[in-house]
Amino acid sequence: MTGATSLAAREPGGTAPEAIVRLLRADRALQWAALLGVAWLALYAVLTWRSQDDAELARFTANVLYLLPVVVAAVTGCLAARRRGRGNRTGRAWVVFAASGLLWLAGELVWSYQAYAAPDADTYPSPADVFYILSGLLIPVGLLVAFGRAGRPGSRRATLDVLLVALGLATLGWELLVAPQLDDSSGFDRLITVAYPLTDIAILVCLVSLGLSGHDRLPTSVRLVGWAYLVFAATDCGYSYQTISDSYGDASWLNIGYQLSAITLAIGGMVALRYPEAEAVPAVLGRDLTIVPLLVAAAAAWFVVAVQIAEAGLPFVPVVVAAVIVAGLLFRQLMVTRDRTRLAAELRDALAEQARLAVTDPLTGLHNRRHLQEALDLEVARARRSGAPLSLVVLDIDHFKQVNDAYGHAAGDAALVQTARRLGAVARAGDVIARHGGEEFAWLLPDTSGEGAAELAERLRAALAGTPVDLPESGPVEMSGSLGVATLRAPDDGTALMRDADRALYRAKEHGRNRVEVASDDRFTVPTAVPAG
Ligand code: GH3
Ligand code: MG
Ligand code: MG
Repeated sequence: MTGATSLAAREPGGTAPEAIVRLLRADRALQWAALLGVAWLALYAVLTWRSQDDAELARFTANVLYLLPVVVAAVTGCLAARRRGRGNRTGRAWVVFAASGLLWLAGELVWSYQAYAAPDADTYPSPADVFYILSGLLIPVGLLVAFGRAGRPGSRRATLDVLLVALGLATLGWELLVAPQLDDSSGFDRLITVAYPLTDIAILVCLVSLGLSGHDRLPTSVRLVGWAYLVFAATDCGYSYQTISDSYGDASWLNIGYQLSAITLAIGGMVALRYPEAEAVPAVLGRDLTIVPLLVAAAAAWFVVAVQIAEAGLPFVPVVVAAVIVAGLLFRQLMVTRDRTRLAAELRDALAEQARLAVTDPLTGLHNRRHLQEALDLEVARARRSGAPLSLVVLDIDHFKQVNDAYGHAAGDAALVQTARRLGAVARAGDVIARHGGEEFAWLLPDTSGEGAAELAERLRAALAGTPVDLPESGPVEMSGSLGVATLRAPDDGTALMRDADRALYRAKEHGRNRVEVASDDRFTVPTAVPAG
């Protein structure tokens, strides 16, 4: 079983046949199983062909050989359920599929026994039918668990989809499969007769609406089960139809459909047994292919209307059903539009939030270095255009390492937050304040001369040194900052402005900290660069 875990880790997310083929390519045991399955189907087809005029061979094929794939499917299903049942949703679905497989097998055993023990007795309805129907009823339950749609975004629309498809298919099923049988049966017979097509319709409805509603991830075993039950339900509709026309027998070609379904189910069980699979993940903005079966359902209902008109004039119930489906389709489109509008709004808000976070310092909530850089370029360009002054103040907290060393990193963080708050209190509207290093802050002041900026910087220095910061567990702690001030000179850019402010800051540190230094005065008075000397 080489590569089992790596395969499970990258659970295929492509289209259904793709994912299944990829898994088959990689797993020798599954290849053999598939090959055996195909060989068996070929053999069964030959035997069915030979059975057409050999009743004994037909009885043996349909009642003994027939059992083998059903037994294998039931056994692999049970093994998969035992190994995965306590895991996740996919595992729990396998418990349901296994129970359904066992009931199917029970039905087949009873059926085969009757075929041999009492071949001529009227065996309809028989205990086998009860097992079959119970088995079929479990299938939609398992599918709902496996595909996991309920409670997800868009699940209200999914519910409407299911109801509409159910309505359309039920109308068609009633017309073609149920109504013709009602006349000559009663009581329990009638219940059994109606239960078959209705169960099949329930399975088909689940499969089309769940399978087509779009999934970001669907376990391969669930895909296989889906295909298996699709074949099963389609075959079973054929069975109901042949029962009506009294043409079902041991030599029926429909049995190949049941065999294919059992074999696919068995391979699905093997996959579940061999790979720990993740849960299905319904897509939020998926392909929305459910519209296709909805249109088919509407077409089915109108088809019934047409048939009945042809037979006996305007039929009331099918007309109402068809009209309800059309109204439902319109309402569904309204829901889709609303869903998409809501999602678009959510997406827009998420992008805006993303953009905000990209320029925000998470600790202090001030702007970050990236935003400072952008603002600097913008304000420099604006100042050059308008001729208005532009100043920059940089602040570095004094001996901040000692705060960290003495009170811990968390206390240091709290001190940074309080420093940011004091900076915010002194800054004016239109100023840009940012944390552009560990304990370094930048304050960009448009329309502000060097003198004005120096005054404001002094106010900030006083605000920092004047009141100790209050650290959560350590109480008040004295702190101060050194500040450098620079003003844009005509030929300079943002980088030069930052360099000047930094130099002034270093001078403040050199001169004893807790003070403001201004980049040399000639820079404010002379608008162009002055040669050194
Ligand atoms: P001075 O600037 O006065 O020369 O001394 P200083 O101790 O502040 O010197 P320096 O700039 O070398 O140290 C800055 C310290 O800030 C070092 C680092 O541990 C601390 N620091 C940087 N970023 C953070 C942060 O996000 N949280 C905390 N708690 N500490 C930080
Ligand atoms: Mg520093
Ligand atoms: Mg420092």
